[in-house]
Amino acid sequence: MPGFELFGDKERKEVTDVLSTGVLMRYGFDGARNGHYKALEFEKTLCDITGSAHSHLCSSGTAALSTAMAACGIGSKDEVIVPPFTFVATFEAVLQAGAVPVFGEIDDTLCLNPDRLDAVLTPKTKAVVPVHMCGAMARIDEIKKFCDRNGLILLEDACQSLGATFQGKHLGCFGKAGCFSFDAVKTVTCGEGGAVITDDQTVYDICHQYADHGHDHLGGPDRGADDHPILGTNYRISELNAAVGLAQLRKLDQILTIQRRNKQILKHAMKNLPGITFRHLPDPSGDSATFLSFMLPTEDKARRAAENLAANNVPCPYWYDNNWHYFKKWHHLKQMAGAAPMPAQLCGNLPDYTRVNLPESDAVMKRTLSMQIMLSWTDPDLEKRVAAIEKALTNI
Ligand SMILES: *Cc1c(COP(=O)(O)O)cnc(C)c1O
Repeated sequence: MPGFELFGDKERKEVTDVLSTGVLMRYGFDGARNGHYKALEFEKTLCDITGSAHSHLCSSGTAALSTAMAACGIGSKDEVIVPPFTFVATFEAVLQAGAVPVFGEIDDTLCLNPDRLDAVLTPKTKAVVPVHMCGAMARIDEIKKFCDRNGLILLEDACQSLGATFQGKHLGCFGKAGCFSFDAVKTVTCGEGGAVITDDQTVYDICHQYADHGHDHLGGPDRGADDHPILGTNYRISELNAAVGLAQLRKLDQILTIQRRNKQILKHAMKNLPGITFRHLPDPSGDSATFLSFMLPTEDKARRAAENLAANNVPCPYWYDNNWHYFKKWHHLKQMAGAAPMPAQLCGNLPDYTRVNLPESDAVMKRTLSMQIMLSWTDPDLEKRVAAIEKALTNI
């Protein structure tokens, strides 16, 4: 998912536009900015791409999640169902909102299993936050049905899945709001950045207000004349970051085309290797193809495959052992639950996460490896990779 591989003249041009005026803030300074509104232009482009009615750019994907939670009214002691395979930012944002992350099981989509949501539903459940991991979709139509049936908010963490679709509709567009990240290693990068998309005018209004100290942005050129209908914070993006992202976002089609081609070549080469199966994709045509995720028949074989692949210069993350992406290694969450620096209302009110058991998620994650798909691979690189994969995965 590395937009940074295509960094060049177009990014420099957008940044130079901003530097030539010296107006680094997205709001105000109308006379001095020489017509440059990079954050605004980014947001319009993101709406065009996703088909969402509104988008708001923030300082990070984590900030976008927090902003979306605020705009959806997720707060004190509400329970929010999240998957145990994600980046820690998802549960951090829930905790920041003063809400309680509750972990549901994942399945071979590597995302929340809609059939296991009932098992963690309680009267306090307010929202479900599926995470479309590694560039592709959860069983989002079924998760949406579960939310509708139970009166829950659906908020999608699509931070890793910009450009991915399910049945033609962009991920992030299925619920009340969706979030993207544009950090340094995502499909499109601003350096640091993130966005909320929504079709709901009220959710959008709260997003842009919340991320800018509650400003209603109705005061005209004088920011001091804005009113403040809500309390907020500062999750603003700078024009410099937005400028980088704008150039990157315009390359999204190119990025997706290269990723899909490279992934297809590798997947095709692995198809007939004994014992290898692939992550289940509910709609393969909508995969953004940032990763190729595959399963071995057993944990032992997966560990051996990871070692063999690394020894053949094809390192593949084994998420089950990963500190940042899988629940099993989130000791900081398990140890700190209920202690400072949690929002005060959570102290003493979080479940004992050391007792949370996720046997189905463990069973999937133990067997799964993922290969990141790079944009810069040449055809000879791909051929070498195919040969290395065949060597590493034969006779496991
Ligand atoms: C990257 C990421 C985030 C957070 O984004 P930042 O921009 O790094 O704050 C949230 N969720 C997931 C699944 C991510 O991969």
